[in-house]
Amino acid sequence: MRSVAEHRSVVLGNHGALPAVHLPLLSAQGLVLSSAVTAAWPLPSFNNSSMDGYAIRVADVAGAGEDTPITLRVIGDVAAGHVPDSGVVEGSAIRIMTGAPMPEGADAVVPVEWTDGGMATVAIRRAPERGGYLRIRGEDVAQGDLVLLAGNIVNARTTALLAASGHADVAVHRRPRVAVISTGDELIEPGLPLTRGLIADSNSFMLMAAVQEAGAEAYRCGPVRDDEAELERVLREEAPRADLILTTGGVSMGAYDTVKAVLSRVGGVDFVKVAMQPGMPQGSGVIDGTPIVTLPGNPVSAYVSFEVFVRPLLRTLLGHAHITRPQLQIRCGRDFTSPSGKTQFARVQIVTRHDGVVAIPEGAQGSHILGGLARADALAEIPPDITSVREGDSLAVVDLRQEPS
Ligand code: AMP
Ligand code: MG
Repeated sequence: MRSVAEHRSVVLGNHGALPAVHLPLLSAQGLVLSSAVTAAWPLPSFNNSSMDGYAIRVADVAGAGEDTPITLRVIGDVAAGHVPDSGVVEGSAIRIMTGAPMPEGADAVVPVEWTDGGMATVAIRRAPERGGYLRIRGEDVAQGDLVLLAGNIVNARTTALLAASGHADVAVHRRPRVAVISTGDELIEPGLPLTRGLIADSNSFMLMAAVQEAGAEAYRCGPVRDDEAELERVLREEAPRADLILTTGGVSMGAYDTVKAVLSRVGGVDFVKVAMQPGMPQGSGVIDGTPIVTLPGNPVSAYVSFEVFVRPLLRTLLGHAHITRPQLQIRCGRDFTSPSGKTQFARVQIVTRHDGVVAIPEGAQGSHILGGLARADALAEIPPDITSVREGDSLAVVDLRQEPS
């Protein structure tokens, strides 16, 4: 049997980031920059006020105090988005709003709170320092500076910098397109009435969501019946337009394990047992040149296999430096057992108790237990040689609620 780490490196193969495309900022959210970005202009791009107040010459207000206010003539008014009509000359002030350009001659802003707020003249009760309440051209970013590097992620914070420094679109690694194909005669669309023996196709919806959560684009093809000719037709039709094909079901030892039957005949895919629970039967390879990962049919097995093998592959294609989520050490909150010789991925809840934060395993760990999967916050990875875990032991846990950076 293959170890989890061996199978992950087989699935990752020698894949790298997909080619770059230029996308408008809002279409690039979550994607990874394929090249560095420089500032088209400095930030701030002109000296401006950081407060609503009065642009003045510090020399004119020296000695101003609560009991010794100094009065200046107000010779103008400048709002953000406008330019001052004149400069500030000796004994005068220009009323200025936050973000408005500094008038010539002024060397500080007096916040309106330090004044009587006058319109024709203004009484100033406190003197700012030279340069006080000024934002200086280029103090944030100089023109031509590298503002972001290849590998940085386009998100709300970096988007602000990209937009401010003059970029309407950016070069990013293309989003992978993933075909999700569920298989099985028992599958019907969610919401349809269940007749005897049928179940809703939950896997393909779960995987569509998981692929999208990972930052890739997903499209759902199927469910496909357990019919070899039909499955082969769908696989060959999807291969040319997908960067990755994901199937679920039909890879174990059953009589109607169509995925295994078709791909064993077509070739290019290895079917192996991986020493893990859930998720032992796995397959990976290529069909018509397109990477394919064949996930087990049991929903929890499919989810865990996606998380452990496919998500890192998608993040590789997206160009992320960190392809797995960070592993944390959390104390176990309850005794439980683990199979010998297999890595167990136990579904756990992370709970704050009187004795601190603990990971509590779901009571039922069967690979069909969707309630436990939905309640879980995290996966605890129990190594193959550990068969019993005690309350208080340290567990290696991956929090499913956290994105890698
Ligand atoms: P299989 O590997 O095809 O024998 O499937 C293993 C188990 O997973 C069976 O109980 C199937 O009914 C179930 N299963 C397979 N595909 C799906 C799916 N798309 N949604 C929900 N359950 C599934
Ligand atoms: Mg099946």
